[in-house]
Amino acid sequence: MTDALVVGAGFSGLAAALSLVRAGRRVRVLEARDRVGGRALTRWLDDGTQLDLGAQWIGPGQDRVNALVRRYALGTFPSPAYGGSTVIWDGARRDAAPEPTARVVELLDGYAARLDPAAPWTAPEAVRWDRITLGGWLAATAPDPVTARYLGRLLAGGLLATSADEVSVLQMAFYLRSGGGSGALLRMAGGAQQDRIVGGPAALAEAMAAALGPDVVRLAAPVVAIEQDRAAVVVYTDAERFDAAAVVVAVPPTLAGRIRYAPALPALRDGLTQRMPMGSAFKVHAVYPEPFWRADGRSGVATCSDGPVVETVDNSTPTSSRGVLTAFSYGVEANALRAMTPPARRAALLDALTVIVGPAARHAEEVIEYDWSADPWTRGCFCGALTPGSWRQYGPWLRPAVGRIHWAGTETATRWTGYLDGAIEAGERAAAEVLGRLPTGAP
Ligand SMILES: Cc1cc2nc3c(=O)[nH]c(=O)nc-3n(C[C@H](O)[C@H](O)[C@H](O)COP(=O)(O)OP(=O)(O)OC[C@H]3O[C@@H](n4cnc5c(N)ncnc54)[C@H](O)[C@@H]3O)c2cc1C
Repeated sequence: MTDALVVGAGFSGLAAALSLVRAGRRVRVLEARDRVGGRALTRWLDDGTQLDLGAQWIGPGQDRVNALVRRYALGTFPSPAYGGSTVIWDGARRDAAPEPTARVVELLDGYAARLDPAAPWTAPEAVRWDRITLGGWLAATAPDPVTARYLGRLLAGGLLATSADEVSVLQMAFYLRSGGGSGALLRMAGGAQQDRIVGGPAALAEAMAAALGPDVVRLAAPVVAIEQDRAAVVVYTDAERFDAAAVVVAVPPTLAGRIRYAPALPALRDGLTQRMPMGSAFKVHAVYPEPFWRADGRSGVATCSDGPVVETVDNSTPTSSRGVLTAFSYGVEANALRAMTPPARRAALLDALTVIVGPAARHAEEVIEYDWSADPWTRGCFCGALTPGSWRQYGPWLRPAVGRIHWAGTETATRWTGYLDGAIEAGERAAAEVLGRLPTGAP
């Protein structure tokens, strides 16, 4: 019997396991996929260009992930910064969004500042803010429909990968609070999009797994059931059973809800897993012989009020001459793309890029996509978000353990929830809970 089991070898599960191993505990990590890293996945082009198909950026204030990058001596490189950004505003090209957008975002940042990120449901305005969708609030608050649409796409889309009509103002304000406000969350340099990891976050996950030592992580071991009684917890894959004193479940809540529990989870904890759907994003890399947009003084960073693409970034790497323009689509727009055939989707995306950076965008050498919503071990991204009206009843069930079952995963973080850094925070918190329940003394 091990001291603790961890379900999921994403950043949260790996961070939990590292904390436990460092405390001298015997741990086993059970991972469904044949790789570690979860929502982080890196691929390389033939010339070594690094494409991060899932998570990619880290930034200042994300102290945990930055510390791990340093610990494993992985190095970073900054997001490219050439030329000005582009805003496609109601079909017209501009250098920046009209000034009133900033005033509307300031209002939301003000709401966020009034929340306790560990208990957003306790704010005096929580019920009111959770009743209103961000889309409804923007329609009533923004000076015009284009501003409302643009901000809905930028905030609900760019941050939660969903549509403004699917999230409440409270959920949005909590997310802003957790990431330190819209400035920290939306900025490239100085914000959450500042740096990339050499080798990608996947390399960091592999370094964390290696540091656990041999035989700790069991790949291709999807957990199907968890039983517990007063003495122990038993975790089942299709083929094996594992016994331990405690288990950390480090998977998104909606996937945690697909595991069978005996005894059954309390009604509200199970209800939480039914009310925290994953976002819906398409992140697509268009690869060109060079970053041609720079010659026109454009940075490749764009945000759009309309069309299938919500935003783009220059994702070219310093060690390759190739240009990579990465397009993001969210919520309704992502689902519309998902319904197309691959050739029709490629054509729609390249058309949209043509509007942003000009006709050369049509001549991509390659268009590389990965659909996280179709991946059974993620089922959407960037993260899960509570549905409108759910925070007060179900939010308090996010973190508290149920007997010997402890909950991790970025969705349970209070700081940088939805991010790699939040995943690590959550894993370390769950590990501390487990250590608190294990008998002290020699392991
Ligand atoms: C396209 C995209 C872009 C993103 N961009 C960024 C970014 O730039 N910066 C950033 O910080 N974050 C970003 N994120 C979010 C970031 O990837 C996540 O916050 C983080 O990886 C979550 O880690 P986690 O360990 O909580 O969950 P996961 O990474 O989802 O790990 C859960 C693990 O559990 C496994 N699992 C699931 N069910 C079972 C089961 N039944 N049994 C066993 N194992 C199971 C999964 O295979 C997975 O490995 C992005 C995500 C995506 C998809």
